[in-house]
Amino acid sequence: MDRAEEVNAAEGGPLFALRGVGKTYGEGATAVHALIDVNLDIVPGELIVLLGPSGSGKSTLLNILGGLDRPSAGEVLFRGASLTTLNDSGLTQFRRKHVGFIFQFYNLIPSLTARENVELVGEITDDPLDAAEALELVGLAKRLDHFPSQLSGGEQQRVAVARAIAKRPAVLLCDEPTGALDVKTGVRVLEALQEVNERYGSTTLIVTHNADVARMGARVIRFGDGRVRSVEVNADRAAPSQLVW
Ligand code: ADP
Ligand code: MG
Repeated sequence: MDRAEEVNAAEGGPLFALRGVGKTYGEGATAVHALIDVNLDIVPGELIVLLGPSGSGKSTLLNILGGLDRPSAGEVLFRGASLTTLNDSGLTQFRRKHVGFIFQFYNLIPSLTARENVELVGEITDDPLDAAEALELVGLAKRLDHFPSQLSGGEQQRVAVARAIAKRPAVLLCDEPTGALDVKTGVRVLEALQEVNERYGSTTLIVTHNADVARMGARVIRFGDGRVRSVEVNADRAAPSQLVW
């Protein structure tokens, strides 16, 4: 941690603070305002569900939080330090060290086993979780030596979850993680995410257009046309097994 991070942590500050964040793609008449004046604090360890129709800016927000993209206005602070001022290599370091991504399509390497796919992460991080332990956590202890083609979609996505958590990231960014799955397998994936969130305290953002998934979030943020439309605290959270879509 640098000085700003230490002060922020000592003060119990947010993991992320977004201040007036905007993102515009293109220019002039064809400009798309993907994000407009987004202000948000994300607390360490919370599980947030981000809802919104297609094109409302959800992926853009995750990509900016994860350092895959930069805002065109405003500022993003991570543990009190600005991400916006980092150069490309600084942003890459941030991503490697602190961010786990889970996408709709699992992006596993077909020629590597489940265990090997997860082990790859160990090569870019200091203190990785043991691959077998990460796979056990997502309920795949018996699938360590299977190749992706020998696993169902839900199992492949759980390998992707194991891979993302193996670096013990401060934040897990999940973009439509159940988008390609049926309800039953999707629920297993959401259970794995919740388990990781509870066990390791990884701050977790789940983007979805399945409104029912909101019931498992500690907070629910609704997006519309690039803006935050509402933020709700969910006092009565549902277990993933109670969700339907
Ligand atoms: P969501 O994830 O909620 O579906 P996105 O964040 O992907 O929405 O997109 C928000 C808006 O920004 C959409 O209108 C989309 O077409 C536009 N957009 C996203 N990425 C790009 C890009 N790289 N270039 C141009 N427009 C983009
Ligand atoms: Mg999207």
